[in-house]
Amino acid sequence: MQILKPFPDELGLTHLYRLWAVNDLHGLTFGSLAKAFVSRTKDVRRDGFQLPWTPLYIHQIVSHLSGMPEQEYRARHTLMALDKNWRATHTHTPVKHSKIDVYAFKPFQSDSIASEPPLRLCLRCREEDLYLHRMTYWHRQHHIAGLDICLKHHLPLHRLDWQHAHSASNPASLQGVLPSDSLIQANIDPLLQRYFEVARHILENPAPPLYIHAHEQLLKRATEMGLGRQQVSFSGTYCYFEHELARYLYSHLPRVWLAEHFAAKFQDKAFMPDFICDDRYHIELKRLALPDMSRPIFLLLALAAVFKSAEEICLLLFDRNGPPCTV
Ligand SMILES: [Zn+2]
Repeated sequence: MQILKPFPDELGLTHLYRLWAVNDLHGLTFGSLAKAFVSRTKDVRRDGFQLPWTPLYIHQIVSHLSGMPEQEYRARHTLMALDKNWRATHTHTPVKHSKIDVYAFKPFQSDSIASEPPLRLCLRCREEDLYLHRMTYWHRQHHIAGLDICLKHHLPLHRLDWQHAHSASNPASLQGVLPSDSLIQANIDPLLQRYFEVARHILENPAPPLYIHAHEQLLKRATEMGLGRQQVSFSGTYCYFEHELARYLYSHLPRVWLAEHFAAKFQDKAFMPDFICDDRYHIELKRLALPDMSRPIFLLLALAAVFKSAEEICLLLFDRNGPPCTV
């Protein structure tokens, strides 16, 4: 049985596929492959692994075999810190695969144009990998939701189908589809650049982000900007926060980016979701009224809209327990 450690910032899911490929494991489903992998690695289990050696703990088994604590594996090789299960990234409570898919990386909107194909590849990063490691791999940072260019090289990311993750864990000769010139241009919009920089900083920072604190500051700033206010309910029995953050984002984000990552309807420059719109991205943005209700990527997008620098946002997210922000 060959055990290969993950490369720096390698996407956990494709690290797993690489392990399966190098050990000649074949199966039709994730479940059958995970079962075969767990069965074949029982003999290389070392002392100190406290969980059952079953597919329910597949990522813990992979991190154990890689000589890495599971918390470190999740923080360095998954995108969990940017999504709804972000708390589970650093937890010491066992994370079961049946409860939380740590390998998931989700777009802003599951049926958006950008969601298919889901894999991303930078050809310059690939050249560097081939020079450094004599092979290449799928990079986690290329899969930040909403990203169409490499943050390191500012080159467009090639887009590829799922099948390539299985069949090419070393994507050394693949070519995908390139985003349009207008979408590439949209990615250098200052608001989006702030969002990308902050998302990257969260992935690179070993400390958990202070999302609740940052969210409270978002609502405070929204109030100062006239984008939000406390209202008393019609019955007079409770208060709620009414805000226009969704509309503000629709007005300030490039339309071509919104059409790609939220909904194709944004191609129509006059389109504006109404109050009863039940598209997922709109519901998530409306949920910004209360801390901890929306997925962190939507919170980060809103923070990037109302604060003027990535450094300022990073200070809100990490000032109390993290190293200095170096964005
Ligand atoms: Zn690159």
